[in-house]
Amino acid sequence: MLKPKIVFSDFDGTLTRDEHMGPIFFDLLALLKKHNIPLVIVTGRSLSWGHFLLTHFPLKDVIVEGGGARVYKNGKLIEEELYVTETEVKRLENFCTELKNDSPHLKLSVDSFGRKTDRAIELWDLQDGVFFHHVEELLTERGINFSTSNVHLNFWCGEISKYLAVTNYLQKVGVSPDEAVFFGDSLNDQTMFKSFKNSVGVSNISKVMDQLVHKPTTILEGPENIGPNGVFNYLKNLLEK
Ligand SMILES: [Mg+2]
Repeated sequence: MLKPKIVFSDFDGTLTRDEHMGPIFFDLLALLKKHNIPLVIVTGRSLSWGHFLLTHFPLKDVIVEGGGARVYKNGKLIEEELYVTETEVKRLENFCTELKNDSPHLKLSVDSFGRKTDRAIELWDLQDGVFFHHVEELLTERGINFSTSNVHLNFWCGEISKYLAVTNYLQKVGVSPDEAVFFGDSLNDQTMFKSFKNSVGVSNISKVMDQLVHKPTTILEGPENIGPNGVFNYLKNLLEK
């Protein structure tokens, strides 16, 4: 592809490595700044995480909650835009109350406190298969969408995906999808891999390759391309070769 106008990237496992942000992340920020290309992180993490990322790094927009919302800088202010209606937000709140009454011992993940458009349960708390099945049945009966990552059972109301949020964002800023690139590493990036033309999997995606129904158009390989190193190498090659 040609020089992208926007770089979209997943966060965990794509911009972090072994759950840490390392110096390569800052090298990547410097590379993009030099070429005047914005980075938009597209993550399953919460709105409050989006606020943290915007506050501490030179970013203008972060898409959070798996595509449920966007947090952005408006001058000095940090604001949010939800990609689902208030009705769906309320329906999710009501369901959480029902779930708490149904299963008083069940805890939502700690970061659910900072979430608006989705919630999460630690899979660790659902290790009892019978109980997991019960929660899934309840979600299905109430028409609540859900999916599992390697750590969470996430659930939400309304149409939410990384792809829908990115498409919405691109329309807003008037950039064609062909002029952007997306980096990811896992199952929750699949809506992007399925429908986004320029998608790149960093090499640690090999861990979930067997489970991916939709694969990225470009798949990086080798230990030198794990997580943020893969993102950096790919862009450096594209921009400065
Ligand atoms: Mg990831």
